[in-house]
Amino acid sequence: MEAKIENLEVKDVRFPTSLTGDGSDAMHTDPDYSCAYVKLTLSDGTSGYGLTFTIGKGTEVVVTAVKALAPLVVGKAIKSIYDDFAKFWRDLTSDSQLRWIGPEKGVIHLATAAIINALWDLWARREGKPLWKLLADMTPEQLVSTIDFRYITDVITKEEAIQLLKKKEDGKKEREAKLLQHGYPAYCTSVGWIGYSDEKIKKLCKQKLQEGFTAFKAKVGQNLEDDKRRLSIIRKEIGEENLFMVDANQKWDVQEAISWMKELTNFNLLWIEEPTSPDDILGHAAISKALKPYGIGVATGEQCQNRVIFKQLLQAGALQFCQIDSCRLGGVNEILSVYLMAAKLGVPVCPHAGGVGLCELVQHLSAWDYISVSGSLEKRMIEYVEHLHEHFEDPVSIRKGHYETPLRPGYSTKMKDRSVSDYQYPSGDVWKNMFAEGKFSKPL
Ligand SMILES: [Mg+2]
Repeated sequence: MEAKIENLEVKDVRFPTSLTGDGSDAMHTDPDYSCAYVKLTLSDGTSGYGLTFTIGKGTEVVVTAVKALAPLVVGKAIKSIYDDFAKFWRDLTSDSQLRWIGPEKGVIHLATAAIINALWDLWARREGKPLWKLLADMTPEQLVSTIDFRYITDVITKEEAIQLLKKKEDGKKEREAKLLQHGYPAYCTSVGWIGYSDEKIKKLCKQKLQEGFTAFKAKVGQNLEDDKRRLSIIRKEIGEENLFMVDANQKWDVQEAISWMKELTNFNLLWIEEPTSPDDILGHAAISKALKPYGIGVATGEQCQNRVIFKQLLQAGALQFCQIDSCRLGGVNEILSVYLMAAKLGVPVCPHAGGVGLCELVQHLSAWDYISVSGSLEKRMIEYVEHLHEHFEDPVSIRKGHYETPLRPGYSTKMKDRSVSDYQYPSGDVWKNMFAEGKFSKPL
């Protein structure tokens, strides 16, 4: 009998990262890194795991949205989904009532991501391949058949996408071998959280240099004098030869972003990330134009809500580094479309990572990008943040500043059962203890 999806389970899992300032930036000063965690179980006993990243409060809202989508998933024959994945994706995002609370943006789209990620994990597990390999082994036609091209055909059509992939067929084997040998370049964000002391920053820079990192990022945007001091410390520690980027997490108005960044030009910065509202396409274009003479690019995408906004950012020359997010876009299907648009318009993709599980997921996407789409590592790297990997069954492994290519079947999305039960909010033991100790107050 054909396997059907019998059950969709979703959990609210939160980690108390605000206690140590991990992940803090100019806008999110006390995040508790969290996720809505989905498990799909099939009638033949196999399972797939997916998640979407959140930063604490509101995860329960995403969990509710996943439950609202569940009837569109449970009971489906798995083969019918993978035989026409683009149609399934469109059905999931186009329910005639649910789409009103999106469409394809916000909480409902985060929920879509958790489910779609679980379906890709499941597919890769059933094929016995890591996700990047499942993608890289597909023919261009198969790969493109998973993408819903609605709203983006003015930039890329299905046929153009197939041609683009065909052009890179030569050399795929060699690139795969290279990747398995050397891994994919990473940059390090966890030296420069805004809540860290100068001493801690210095210590972390030394440590990360020793580990082999050659690219670093720091948070900016709260106070200009503080930024100058912190960037001086980091630049001095990492030396002039290494890459250095900054991230304002949407703190500024457009003109403010330009004038603030002009104060920081002597730090030789590669990019300013999220200088302003993630929805302000023309604003990003203006900032890009103003900072070009200083050699500073604009990077954005971690809160870019869907392929349409990415399309416009690319069309407008509003970003020089495209930062897809594996859990903000509606899962792998939509992400593939953004990679293809970026490739066509010549913009490198440097995925957003960190959070909970984002590093685990995006390493697969970048590996596929290198093998099948861009064929290049130039100006490309994956963000790396060292927190919370210990909660995953197949955690990322970093060697000499590179992500080692994952080999286990799946999308590296499965968390340890013990972590899920201990950190489930608010009923897990870890949370119960913290409520008792007065570290957090119980939800109402
Ligand atoms: Mg960022």
